[in-house]
Amino acid sequence: MAITDAEDVQSTKPNPGTPRVQYLDARLVDQIAAGEIIDRPASLLKELLENSLDSGADRIDIDAEGGGVKRIRVQDNGCGIEADDLHLALSRHATSKLSELDQLERISSLGFRGEALPSISSVSRLVLTSRSADAGHGWQVRGAADGSLSTPAPAAHAFGTTVEVTDLFYNTPARRKFLRTETTELQHLDRVVRRLALSHFEVAFRFAHNRKATLEFACASDAAARQRRLAAICGDAFAGGSAAIDTAASGMRLHGWLGLPTFSRSQRDMQYFFVNGRAVRDASVAHAVRRAYDDVLYHGRHPAFVLFLEIDPRGVDVNVHPGKHEVRFRDARSVHDFLFHGIQRQIASGQNAVVAAPGAALAGTTPTYPEAQQHGLRLGTVREQVHAYRDLHPADGAATAVSDQARTEAGPLGFALAQLKGVYILAENSDGLILVDIHAAHERTTYENLKQQLQGDAVAVQPLLVPVSLVVSEAEAELAMRYADEFKRFGFEIERLGVANLIVRSVPALLACSDVATLIRDVLADLNEHGQSGRMQHAINELLSSIACHGSVRANRHLTIPEMNALLREMEHTDRSDQCNHGRPTWRQISMAELDKWFMRGQ
Ligand code: ADP
Ligand code: MG
Repeated sequence: MAITDAEDVQSTKPNPGTPRVQYLDARLVDQIAAGEIIDRPASLLKELLENSLDSGADRIDIDAEGGGVKRIRVQDNGCGIEADDLHLALSRHATSKLSELDQLERISSLGFRGEALPSISSVSRLVLTSRSADAGHGWQVRGAADGSLSTPAPAAHAFGTTVEVTDLFYNTPARRKFLRTETTELQHLDRVVRRLALSHFEVAFRFAHNRKATLEFACASDAAARQRRLAAICGDAFAGGSAAIDTAASGMRLHGWLGLPTFSRSQRDMQYFFVNGRAVRDASVAHAVRRAYDDVLYHGRHPAFVLFLEIDPRGVDVNVHPGKHEVRFRDARSVHDFLFHGIQRQIASGQNAVVAAPGAALAGTTPTYPEAQQHGLRLGTVREQVHAYRDLHPADGAATAVSDQARTEAGPLGFALAQLKGVYILAENSDGLILVDIHAAHERTTYENLKQQLQGDAVAVQPLLVPVSLVVSEAEAELAMRYADEFKRFGFEIERLGVANLIVRSVPALLACSDVATLIRDVLADLNEHGQSGRMQHAINELLSSIACHGSVRANRHLTIPEMNALLREMEHTDRSDQCNHGRPTWRQISMAELDKWFMRGQ
């Protein structure tokens, strides 16, 4: 039987049309690789700029035409390429950045795969001109349409390298069809330049499109210059509406700028995250940041940030994506936790209104943002003002010779004068006038109080008369048991029944009427994915937030002066009291200087 079957099979095969296995032609290999890394002019520009940055250049000039499809030229003043190496640089798998396997585990350059230049040259017309430090003049090679390279010819060139790419995708019509309008491609080019300029302050960039310079960044070597570049790239509103962060722990450092909750966005369009100078997208990073902002952003709003994570290159695998947009952290959990705690602490500390350049915090100075002050915005948080106030009014009595007892006891938010239209408190402090949104302020202080109580005491537990049973995966059931204590802390008593069944016997009283099964499922999914979950806390916080909102002073209720003062004092002692739960500011200062300007006093 078996023999007959085999004969049957043989009788139908081989058929003469069966293709044979063979090696791909080198040119085709390059074109296939190009498909992975070069999908539009912007990705080509990214590769060229990364090469220039790797070459140690501190000035890079970019000229583009026709959205980059017609022409992109990148010129740098970096180390250059030796004449003998020009052909190699344009050959596949040739790189000067990597020679042994163990180097792959601690890459500090942006490139290492040795495939960008040959890929680009296989889908465009490429001219490479370069002059290395010890060469008397430059040398040039050109790629021909058939994939061959010209012999290097002498060319006039300053120290450094110029790569000129014209007619992108001229020989790959399928790719060309995917190109968008000139304006769209230009937008993508612009974004690439901005992103790299943000991650390399020490390098000067100039970008011109159709011979018109659109971006120009001088080399930014001090904090003020970095602040200017930040404003040029992300806009004045972000520069003025963000706080510097600089924190380090377990061998990692996180620095950059965090947008204030009041500067939230409807899109994720202002989120820059760099790992060792490389812009990356990473789900667990995104999760950590989102969670850190969880409590201060209104649902559906997105935070803005420019963050740099510095980490031992051995702790991050950059070789997971041909375009190098993604990385893999060896210890993703500790990266996640470091980011989450660092950012959350910064936001909670209320230092959010102080704008300082990264590094300034390390140097012990926190310069405030002069432009914002000019506009009459008194930056600085309640906490900061508490300190400033204490410095100004030491407790020795001499400095507190104010007649009114209430005044001597007033904190940085001053003492209440009146209530305006049932909505605002008008208060006076040493700087001038303070306006407080009563409902917003009360909502935040109530909410924080509720949370505080919850942290201090055991959560009120509601045993379930009919326990909720849910079917989960085996891995999730194990997770539920591993985190049983965590669950218990929040009031969930969970038992495992069989391989993949869970029984929930009690829930936090606060969540007694919510969809417990869904919540627990979501929490387990988070734990599975990220090793931690903020969902229980989040669900409880949401609830507290809505209790706080509904329980807070509504507009038009008359408050007595002592009640208003009590609220002011409460705000001074409450975390995050500068914004309400939805990210709106709770108070504003109008300085005497500002008032004087309105009335042209002293002019
Ligand atoms: P990779 O960057 O991964 O090494 P590329 O194909 O982008 O691969 O570049 C190949 C090689 O060409 C680089 O390793 C480098 O030695 C050289 N090279 C490319 N661009 C430049 C430049 N602007 N300045 C100096 N050397 C360059
Ligand atoms: Mg490269």
